[in-house]
Amino acid sequence: MALIGGIEAGGTKFVCAVSTGPDDLRAEVRFPTTTPAETIGRAVQFFRAQEERWGPLTAVGIAAFGPLDPEPASPTYGFITTTPKPGWANVDFVGGMQQAFPVPIGFDTDVNGAALAEWRWGAAQGLDTFIYLTVGTGIGGGAMVNGRLLHGLIHPEMGHIGLAHDWLKDPYAGRCPYHGDCLEGMAAGPAIGERWGVSAAELPPDHPAWELEADYLAQALRAFICILSPQRIIMGGGVMEQPQLFPLLRHKTQTYLNGYVQHPAILTEIAQYIVPPGLGNRAGVLGAIALGQQALTTVNREP
Ligand code: ADP
Ligand code: ZN
Repeated sequence: MALIGGIEAGGTKFVCAVSTGPDDLRAEVRFPTTTPAETIGRAVQFFRAQEERWGPLTAVGIAAFGPLDPEPASPTYGFITTTPKPGWANVDFVGGMQQAFPVPIGFDTDVNGAALAEWRWGAAQGLDTFIYLTVGTGIGGGAMVNGRLLHGLIHPEMGHIGLAHDWLKDPYAGRCPYHGDCLEGMAAGPAIGERWGVSAAELPPDHPAWELEADYLAQALRAFICILSPQRIIMGGGVMEQPQLFPLLRHKTQTYLNGYVQHPAILTEIAQYIVPPGLGNRAGVLGAIALGQQALTTVNREP
C-alpha cells in the first residue's frame, strides 16, 4: 500500500497526515495557518520526519482553501490564486511541495477532496454524481459529475450563489466582502454569530436561528438539485454539527422543490439523500489522502 502525505489546508489551520487509507493513519499534526513560507515549511518538516520513520512518501495530496488553480495545463497550476487571505494570494503551493518531495502531487479544493474521500470510503460510495457541501467558516461545495470531480472554468463556488432575502424577516445584511447577502454571507458560521450576537456553537437547538439557517441552505440545495441532479448531497462542516438542522433542511428542501423533481430519493427517502459525511469530521484530511492516491493512479486528476 502506497504511503501518502495529505495536507488539508484551511484558512485557519492546516492538518497534515501520513496514511495509506482511512484505517491506517500513521501520524497527524495540526497547526495554525500563518504565512505561506512558515506554514508550508512546517508541513514539509512534518513529512520529512515521518519519512524517517515510515520510509519515503509515494505521493502527496493537497486539499486547499481557494480560490485556487486546479488546471494542470495552466501556468499558475497549483497556486492559491486570488484569496483575500493576507499573504496567500498567488502562492505556488504545489511548486513549493514539489521541490521538497519529487513525487506525484494531487491538488484540488478542500471540498472536492472531501467529495473524493466520501466517494472512496464514505457516504457517496457507488454514486457518480453528488455534492459535498461544507458549512463552516465559509461555505463551499465540491462535486463529482458523471464520475469526475467537477472543475470547469476554475472550480465551482457554490457558497456564493444569491438567495431570496426577506429583509423584514431577516434585517441582517450579510458579510461576504464581494456580495453581502450571498449564501456564505448569510449562512456560514460567522454570519450566524454576527446576526444573533452569540456564536453558532452556543445557540440552543430550539433557537429561531436554525429555522432561518435551514431556509437559506434549502434555497441553495434547491438550486444545486435543479442544476446538477445529484444522487446525494453530503453536508459537512462545523455548523452541520447541529443535528436538528438535518430534519429542518430536508423538509424545507422538499417544500422549495414542491414535488417537481419526481424521484423517491427526494419525495420519500430524503433522510438518505441529504446526509452528514460518512467519514464524519475526517472527510477533510482523508480528502487530501484521496487526492494523493489519485495523483498516483492517473496522469490527470480525475478518478
Ligand atoms: P473551517 O470552516 O474553518 O474548516 P469548521 O467547519 O469547524 O472549520 O467551521 C467553523 C465554524 O463553524 C465556526 O464559525 C463555528 O462558529 C461553527 N461551528 C463549529 N462548531 C459548531 C457547532 N457545534 N454548532 C454550530 N456551529 C459550529
Ligand atoms: Zn459571496
